[in-house]
Amino acid sequence: MASSDTLEDTILLIDTFTKERDWQQFHSIKNLMSSVSIEASELNETIQWENPSPLEVKENPELVTAIGDELADVMVYCLRLCSVLGFEPVELINQKIEKNRTKYPVSKSKGSSKKYTMYEN
Ligand SMILES: [Mg+2]
Repeated sequence: MASSDTLEDTILLIDTFTKERDWQQFHSIKNLMSSVSIEASELNETIQWENPSPLEVKENPELVTAIGDELADVMVYCLRLCSVLGFEPVELINQKIEKNRTKYPVSKSKGSSKKYTMYEN
């Protein structure tokens, strides 16, 4: 495996890993969605009582590994869910960014963390 792998290669890797272990039986939609949430919580746990800058993370090899591992877990379950549902992840992201462009026009959102529902007309 190399960084030149395509997203399709990565999905196939995850699906093959799953099939080799006969774990498809555990991958219901509900279980996969729960797993995304659980792994996202584990990602949060890596810095639960800290607020490190990107540089502080990069200078801490143990933290880099912990964050990388949990980030990978989240992405693996997201991609597995896409595979089970027949969703194309890049298409999903492209469509969602387009929706977000409409919800968050630059003229109203630039430099603001307000939710779009808080915009004044
Ligand atoms: Mg984990």
